[in-house]
Amino acid sequence: MLDDNLRASRKTAETRPDLQISFEFFPPKTDVMEERFWESVHKLAPLKPRFVSVTYGAGGSTRERTLRMVSRIASDTGVPAAAHLTCVGATKAEVDEVVRGYKDAGVTSIVALRGDPPEGIGQPFTPHPEGYQNAADLVAGIRKIGDFDISVAAYPEKHPQSESWNVEIDNLKRKIDAGANRAITQMFFSNADYLRYVERAQKAGITAPIVPGIQPIHSFKQISGFAGRCGASIPEWLAERFDGLDEDPETHALMAAAVAAEQVTELLDEGITEFHFFTLNRSNLVLALARLLGRRP
Ligand code: FAD
Repeated sequence: MLDDNLRASRKTAETRPDLQISFEFFPPKTDVMEERFWESVHKLAPLKPRFVSVTYGAGGSTRERTLRMVSRIASDTGVPAAAHLTCVGATKAEVDEVVRGYKDAGVTSIVALRGDPPEGIGQPFTPHPEGYQNAADLVAGIRKIGDFDISVAAYPEKHPQSESWNVEIDNLKRKIDAGANRAITQMFFSNADYLRYVERAQKAGITAPIVPGIQPIHSFKQISGFAGRCGASIPEWLAERFDGLDEDPETHALMAAAVAAEQVTELLDEGITEFHFFTLNRSNLVLALARLLGRRP
């Protein structure tokens, strides 16, 4: 018999007009990767996402590619495209020039981030002497240039450099107060961490949406490596579910779908109406998850 919770969430998904989804891609490096990128963009665009975003490589290494991809997404699909931007290792003048480039290209949405030092997320960050100090400072700088829709990052398990929860939430509040419209979270696999984070933020007076960043586990090996590098933990129960599936791609894919479906369904039951999917430039699993949320082409 269908469990009452499941029945309720299925009904909610089908009748929820306020549901918003967005998709994150990374700029492809090779022609073959670019082919897959466009194939996925064209499959996901008809789902009418709020926006499709394209990341900005470490230290600005993908500056031109990010701009080329967002411009083309907007012109080819009509879906609003958001460009990520970091301020690590650059002067304010250099970052401002990129923002003006986005504006001239018709990009109306920016995901504003500090970025990481080349040594990685856990390493001390030293701002460029003439640069933006952090993401909040960057948001304020972007606001001076144009009327962009701005998203910032949030960390349900705390950013590794935030010494306490107060520091973490104060920082998020500074970013929102500087003019960000919403926060998008780092990947997380325990919904309780996310829900506690939202509660902490709300208690601190943050009213902007904190959109859960959902990372489907296409490859447990790859995603657990990413998670480790960005300060997200892999719960033991999750590792156990994928244990021994490295050589069994079919069962691995089914498990990935089951885990992601469970995560979004639970969040939907908690009343969450906005989801951001880290696609890794693949569409299938995300297409299925969007359908589960009641969104079809
Ligand atoms: P900030 O909000 O500036 O915070 C970083 C840390 O510094 C926090 O611990 C904060 O508490 C602390 N801090 C900030 N200001 C102060 C202060 N005044 N005093 C004391 N402490 C302070 N990286 C990329 O390179 N390219 C991308 O495209 C990209 N996209 C991302 C998308 C999402 C959804 C997320 C969640 C992350 C993304 N990142 C990306 C990673 C991000 O750049 C790193 O996580 C980085 O370490 C922090 O960036 P931030 O914008 O959160 O920094």
